[in-house]
Amino acid sequence: MGNPMGYVITPPPVPCLAVAGTSDRFAVRRVYCVGRNYAEHAREMGQDPKREPPFFFAKPSDAVFDAAAGQGVTLRYPPQTHDLHHEVELLVALHGGGAELEPAQAHELVFGYAVALDLTRRDMQAAAKKAGRPWALSKGFDHSAPTGPLHPAAEVGNLGEGPIWLDVDGQRRQTGDLGEMIWPVADIISILSRSVTLVAGDVILTGTPAGVGPLAPGQLVRAGIAGLTELELRIVD
Ligand code: MN
Repeated sequence: MGNPMGYVITPPPVPCLAVAGTSDRFAVRRVYCVGRNYAEHAREMGQDPKREPPFFFAKPSDAVFDAAAGQGVTLRYPPQTHDLHHEVELLVALHGGGAELEPAQAHELVFGYAVALDLTRRDMQAAAKKAGRPWALSKGFDHSAPTGPLHPAAEVGNLGEGPIWLDVDGQRRQTGDLGEMIWPVADIISILSRSVTLVAGDVILTGTPAGVGPLAPGQLVRAGIAGLTELELRIVD
């Protein structure tokens, strides 16, 4: 089979997110995540939530996939864990970038927002922490960032406050408010841009409120943020 571009393999597809209410798609470049950005969650992870500089980790770009409510989306329970945890988070998608950005410049870079999960193999992460090893595979496994459709900031505004929650089988497990973030979105973008050059297509998961916990095959996860389409996902064997 000829390949006019000279690739030795067929280039993999570009991971994309849906844009709510349209057939448009947002092409994802990198997936950054913020650790411990809500005080109550920092405490439940055994940490002091003093306002220290935020820390970041990453997931592969193809960890994201569309998981809008009502679509019957399933996720196979991942291998190498017996303690898969849910973390509901606000995802921020960038349509602009730069380096050494000021917080005041940040909002113009935001294309939109979505509800996302930072799924975590907690047992693998705990072992990595104990051994001083990377979190990469405890956080960055296949399909580890299910995401609802993106809502353009031009339509929903800059989300700085509002409820964020997650239910498992109809029972509330996580609850918080975006206003409780230790580092708000503009600060996160500014600080991250001092370590890497941000580019259109980058997305940031902004941390989870308290109440993280285990998921089991058969359970239905439903997660939401005020003003955004809910995410819904069934865990299967
Ligand atoms: Mn997280």
